[in-house]
Amino acid sequence: MKYPFHVFKFGGASVRNAAAIRNVATIVEPYRDKRLVVVVSAMGKTTNALERVVAGLRTGADVSSEIKGLKEYHAGVMEELFPKDHPIREEVDRELTNLPQLWSADLLPDQFYDQVVCRGELISTRIVAAYLAETGLPVEWIDARNYIKTDNTYREGKVDWDLTEKKIRELMPRLDSRILITQGFIGGTPDGFTTTLGREGSDYTAAIFGSCLGAENVTIWKDVPGVMNADPKRLPEAIPFPELPFREAAEMTYYGASVIHPKTIKPLANRGIPLLVKNFDDPALPGTRIHETHIDRLPPLIVFKENQCLISCAVTDYTFVDEEQLSLIFSAVSQENLKINLMQNSAISFSFCVDFREDKVLRLIERLSEHFRVYYNTGITLITVKNYDEATYAKYRGLPGVILEQSSRSTLQVLVKG
Ligand code: ASP
Ligand code: MG
Repeated sequence: MKYPFHVFKFGGASVRNAAAIRNVATIVEPYRDKRLVVVVSAMGKTTNALERVVAGLRTGADVSSEIKGLKEYHAGVMEELFPKDHPIREEVDRELTNLPQLWSADLLPDQFYDQVVCRGELISTRIVAAYLAETGLPVEWIDARNYIKTDNTYREGKVDWDLTEKKIRELMPRLDSRILITQGFIGGTPDGFTTTLGREGSDYTAAIFGSCLGAENVTIWKDVPGVMNADPKRLPEAIPFPELPFREAAEMTYYGASVIHPKTIKPLANRGIPLLVKNFDDPALPGTRIHETHIDRLPPLIVFKENQCLISCAVTDYTFVDEEQLSLIFSAVSQENLKINLMQNSAISFSFCVDFREDKVLRLIERLSEHFRVYYNTGITLITVKNYDEATYAKYRGLPGVILEQSSRSTLQVLVKG
């Protein structure tokens, strides 16, 4: 009998140290004879460190201590997992030593970024694959850049779905005898450069594999019991959802819930492939099943989106804000590639909030100031309460420091200072 395909994704926290990597082996073990693709992120906070290496190399700063830190971190993990003479140790050390040699003034800034930052995943997957092999699992390491094919939009690679699907399907026969281990977050261009799919993009990689293989399901292993109705670090009373409709999960990510990468849902929903979010520390827990379903009454879902900037454009001459002026504002926002998270208008002003990406927002304000009197406020948090009930409605409207609110029959949003 042929088994269905499964895809697992382990994020940075799930491979952050030796104990976590041993746990990956325990979770994968029952799938030894099944057909499984394992997608792995860079270990711990490696991607952030690599971003600092990129910034340093670009400005000619000394990156040796940053690289030393990365080496020590990875070496410490390998020390616990492998015998002294295991070749993986030297291999990883070499990959990190070589980082400065990737610098080339011929590459575009974002292109250079991708060539460096991908190393986090290339290394973590080598380590995980080597360790799983040590435990006797039949694994094969594959380079995701040969399968996830993208255009050359560096740092935000756009997937060439036809080609990607063709490539991934070529892997099917290999899955009969081996578990394939590959990198999240990275892809390859037609001319052989690496692209990345956007920060935290490994979930998206897992969804791409799942969708192209027609998998039975895709599982994201996390350090929480499932998708929660609020961030448990903020609200200790948060509870996991046993199941969620695709639409609800997609909207959560839109409002800023960071539990799943926003691009993950669409490719799976389009093919009706369930996404499971499970607890890495306690695999027996049911977790959350995101699938095609309808649920009558969901508990309130609370999403905090920090670091917002509220911009208000006021007309200067007692005319009213009209469609022509709105279109000016929207086109300026879209030219900066910003996304409006909330908006509200009155007779003489139009207010909206965007993520405070400083350089972009300041350019936007400058541009808008040619037509309007512009006021802006930073350090604001956007709180969205979906499926609110009486108690949550009252609580969030009544928070101190609310500067703007908006509600529909199902969703309340408030902007709070601080
Ligand atoms: N390592 C990448 C990041 O930290 C991708 C991921 O973790 O999903 O953004
Ligand atoms: Mg991550």
